[in-house]
Amino acid sequence: NKLERLQKVIAQSGVTSRRKAETLIEEGKVKVNGKVVSQMGTKVSSTDKIEVNGIPLEKEKPAYYMLYKPRGVISSVKDDKDRKVVLDFLPGIDQRLYPVGRLDYDTSGIILLTNDGEFAQLLMHPSHEIDKVYVAKVRGIPTSDDLKMLRKGVHHEGEKLKAVHVKVLSTDKTKQTAIVQLTLHQGKNRQVRRMFEAINHPVSKLKREQYSFLTLQGLQPGEYRELTPHEINQLR
Ligand code: URA
Repeated sequence: NKLERLQKVIAQSGVTSRRKAETLIEEGKVKVNGKVVSQMGTKVSSTDKIEVNGIPLEKEKPAYYMLYKPRGVISSVKDDKDRKVVLDFLPGIDQRLYPVGRLDYDTSGIILLTNDGEFAQLLMHPSHEIDKVYVAKVRGIPTSDDLKMLRKGVHHEGEKLKAVHVKVLSTDKTKQTAIVQLTLHQGKNRQVRRMFEAINHPVSKLKREQYSFLTLQGLQPGEYRELTPHEINQLR
């Protein structure tokens, strides 16, 4: 559970600005788990009960977005090497968002972001079996036996990696490349790239086109939109 500075958490809840939150802390008007905390910079977690002027802090408003992640972007909140991260594409959003799962640095496509931990856990749980549809450009032209192997499951570094559907969309005989669509329920690290490595057709380009029923329709790389309440309910 992430620790954050008390004044930041109060400000993010929307009750007041960070400056005023600091003043309230100094004045002894803020309690954490029933005790007055006047030490500036005290760290709190989301399970701590915070009161301001005797009123419990409301939980942060839940927020749900989808982003068309461009290639060359890290699927995390911060990067220690200062590379671009997905949150850089949603400026001015007060909630503490984080991505639901990951896309590789070089993979583009749909990624959800939320501050609702329970929702994220639910979507990422294997039993939820969400369709994740990828389109990969691969080297060489996979045979129907190759595709069968992807459906049956390939073993890679002790894990069984399996696709639900696999389909060759097009081939380029001159360049010896193919465009393949595949649907996964699993979400193992670098799964698509590892599966194609296992059948000797390495991926040179990868995009996630669909997450459950959500598509990238209407979005350009780097653009995002809020999920509708209906979409959120359908995903649960
Ligand atoms: N599979 C991969 O290999 N990379 C991704 O980013 C997502 C799925």
